[in-house]
Amino acid sequence: MTGVPLAVKDIITVKGLKATGGSKILENYTAAYDATVIEKLKKAGVVILGKTNCDEFAMGSSNENSYFGPVLNPHDNTRVPGGSSGGSAAAIAADLAPIALGTDTGGSIRQPAAFCGIVGLKPSYGRVSRFGSMAMASSLDQIGPMANSVKDIAYLLSEMVGFDKHDSSSSKAKSGDYLSALTGDAKKLRVGIPKEYFSHDTDADIKEAIESKVKNLKDAGVEIVDVSLPYTDYALAAYYLLMPAEVSSNLARYDGLRYGGLCLDKNDISLDKWYKEVRSIGFGAETKRRIMLGTYILSAGYYDAYYKQAQRVRTLIKHDFAKVFSQVDVLLTPATPTTAFKLGEKSQDPLQMYLSDVFTVGANIAGVCGLTLPIGKDKNDLPIGMQLLADSFSEEKLLTMGNFIENLKK
Ligand code: GLN
Repeated sequence: MTGVPLAVKDIITVKGLKATGGSKILENYTAAYDATVIEKLKKAGVVILGKTNCDEFAMGSSNENSYFGPVLNPHDNTRVPGGSSGGSAAAIAADLAPIALGTDTGGSIRQPAAFCGIVGLKPSYGRVSRFGSMAMASSLDQIGPMANSVKDIAYLLSEMVGFDKHDSSSSKAKSGDYLSALTGDAKKLRVGIPKEYFSHDTDADIKEAIESKVKNLKDAGVEIVDVSLPYTDYALAAYYLLMPAEVSSNLARYDGLRYGGLCLDKNDISLDKWYKEVRSIGFGAETKRRIMLGTYILSAGYYDAYYKQAQRVRTLIKHDFAKVFSQVDVLLTPATPTTAFKLGEKSQDPLQMYLSDVFTVGANIAGVCGLTLPIGKDKNDLPIGMQLLADSFSEEKLLTMGNFIENLKK
């Protein structure tokens, strides 16, 4: 990896560089230490090229929630690159950087990778240390690699993984051999097609591209079986209860005093008023919406009805995945229900925006790993992404199958 330039989502700390998380409240914050992944990658010889724009504290699917303005999709500048790691995805698609880091709490690596026609991997929960990544929803967050090919993903991932005593969620499970996985035998892997991911209102071009890829796989001798994840329909609702609950708690640390502060031109106000004013000015609309929703969800009287119920649903979804991964090695689904949408198209309608994560949130809820890779273009010449999911700590299977599919094209 010596000399390879890396772009880093601005939610991950690099010592001496600004780390804003796309937020005004951290506009003046300079990181005092390297995130564990940065430390590891620097040791491997990677050169940090710079930071990439993202939705505020990784909350968004279009990159329009950044205080610093939206990122544009290099394939069509009137469209969004996806979010929240849209800056990293766009940097690769525009040939500004060969590899990048993103974070994925509900799809923020995989969805922008799909919109920008690149490859993105969300590792299993616990596989990569999150020390130095600003916490959004701690039971869901993962840092992951983004690149032009599955091969580059394998190289980057190999230098990122491993136990870290600074992250209590980091796993001691042995890391895989990701480079050997590239040449693994894809025909030994059973591929499951979960029917719930195909009943959704997905663009016809996407459906067609996925179906033709499935046919190619069958023709190449890969075993394809139909499977079911019955609780899929509840994943998005559970995510939008659990995630804001955790966001409201994690974002309490931004009080305008720590992390370089946000200068208010007032000295004579109470601490309480200071917090209110700083947080009113410092956070954007979507961040405030989630803090308020999360606070409400966790409040006495509503906790049982919302938070606890969502936790129960989470368990059911986990069981769905556990069951299906006893039958198949890899699941194959569309990455997104649409290709890149227009700037401004969904920004006034949070629900429509949230629906773009419908295929990606399940993996975060269950803690399993997922990869998206480009498989063609739609009628507007926009990239179409396909998603592969595998059980926790089975990243090798994603890399074997992903590399095989990439080579099917040729
Ligand atoms: N788009 C999703 C959201 O807005 C996912 C974000 C993420 O994965 N960081 O919450």
